[in-house]
Amino acid sequence: MNFRVGAVVFSNNEVLGQGFNFFSCWNESNRRVSVHAEMHSISGLRHDVVRNTEMVVVRINKRNEPKNCNPCPKCMKMLARKGIRKVYCPQENGDIKVFYP
Ligand SMILES: [Zn+2]
Repeated sequence: MNFRVGAVVFSNNEVLGQGFNFFSCWNESNRRVSVHAEMHSISGLRHDVVRNTEMVVVRINKRNEPKNCNPCPKCMKMLARKGIRKVYCPQENGDIKVFYP
């Protein structure tokens, strides 16, 4: 993997879950299926625990340098469904982009 992505879901300064991106399996067309950090970070958490929380998503390259990141449309949909209010994504220029799923 050229990039690693990590996600932390939190509420009121309490960390509820954390996750990272990884390849989980091969599909029928012989393509690798990846689990995204956003999905991984909330897996196993009850719906009422995840509701009204916030998340930080960080993407780094092989040299551990922060790279621009945006949650993909699939994750944004899933985050909206789960009731996550805000997603913070640090960018390579030091800015923090905020998304409202
Ligand atoms: Zn995604």
